[in-house]
Amino acid sequence: MKYEFPVTKNEHPKKKPSAKGLRFGTEFTDHMFIMDYDTKHGWNNGRIVPYGPITLEPASVVLHYGQEMFEGLKAYKTAAGRVQLFRPDMNAKRTNRTNDRLCIPAVDEELFVEAIKALVKVDQDWIPEGEGTALYIRPFIFGDEAFLGVRKSDTYKFMIILSPVGPYFEHGLAPTKMYVEDVYVRAVKGGTGEAKCGGNYGGSLKAQEIAHEKGYEQILWLDGHEQKYIEEIGAANAFFVIGDEVVTSELNGSILPGITRDSIIALCKEKGIKVSERKISIDELEDAYHNGQLKEMFASGTAAIVSPVGELLYKGENMIINDNKIGPIAQQMYDYIYGIQIGKLDDFMGWTVPVE
Ligand SMILES: *Cc1c(COP(=O)(O)O)cnc(C)c1O
Repeated sequence: MKYEFPVTKNEHPKKKPSAKGLRFGTEFTDHMFIMDYDTKHGWNNGRIVPYGPITLEPASVVLHYGQEMFEGLKAYKTAAGRVQLFRPDMNAKRTNRTNDRLCIPAVDEELFVEAIKALVKVDQDWIPEGEGTALYIRPFIFGDEAFLGVRKSDTYKFMIILSPVGPYFEHGLAPTKMYVEDVYVRAVKGGTGEAKCGGNYGGSLKAQEIAHEKGYEQILWLDGHEQKYIEEIGAANAFFVIGDEVVTSELNGSILPGITRDSIIALCKEKGIKVSERKISIDELEDAYHNGQLKEMFASGTAAIVSPVGELLYKGENMIINDNKIGPIAQQMYDYIYGIQIGKLDDFMGWTVPVE
């Protein structure tokens, strides 16, 4: 390994939760990674320390102007006991695209992956085993300079925390109810929609709250200009099966380039399934629904892999998709990706990376 990170062992390890009944992101492991940045030394002092609270200056840039980014990926343990990551190089690359957009200094991509591996290795006993479970990895970076003027921070922290997780949605692969958001927007071209930053989420909570109050689990976001074209589903990418074609919105500058999205497109191509990235309007979806051509709809993201949509509400019309059941393409994509991740399937795409 090119990078070595000193480890301060946690002298008070916690009791590990049982794999059954694990929820998403509520429990954290015994250790965390932390690294500093200042303009004189660059990124330095990467270290693994006991998980716990950190101190921040009240004037820290992140608390006032939101200079922050995050990533999300998972570690799995195969039946043979091998610990592995899924496409972590993609998270490293996306980190630097996000960093560039937010004026956060770049992180060496090899260091990013090595830091994840080192931390996962220390806490590998926390990787849960059981259907739909994994160890969720959350890298994040924020500006912590104490300064109230508006400019980029001169100091940063890069941290990684780990959380043993169960299925993202309580009901596993059961289809969700979705609300087409036609008042609020998530992102606009030229904004930060394609960057993975906390600010995008802060601004989306309101629409999410309203959808929940109306009994819907998720939001389908439309574009921020005409509110006509499909962008994303909550914090996941949107897929449709229209006729015999798998379709997802093309990356247009306001859509987050998901790694699961990329994996599904690659799998479709590998398996000879027709797939296209293009503009999809809400009108096209409605027409396809009425013509019986809207076969499936699902969300894609690291947390759930795929999450089928069973009901879609748009301007008072409730569309029921695939009889409110998971469709064959969504099921197939879940089986391939989760199968590769946990080593149940041969990694025919070359996507897993061992933690050694
Ligand atoms: C993280 C994220 C996704 C999904 O990306 P994956 O790499 O597949 O996990 C989609 N949309 C938004 C807004 C996201 O933040």
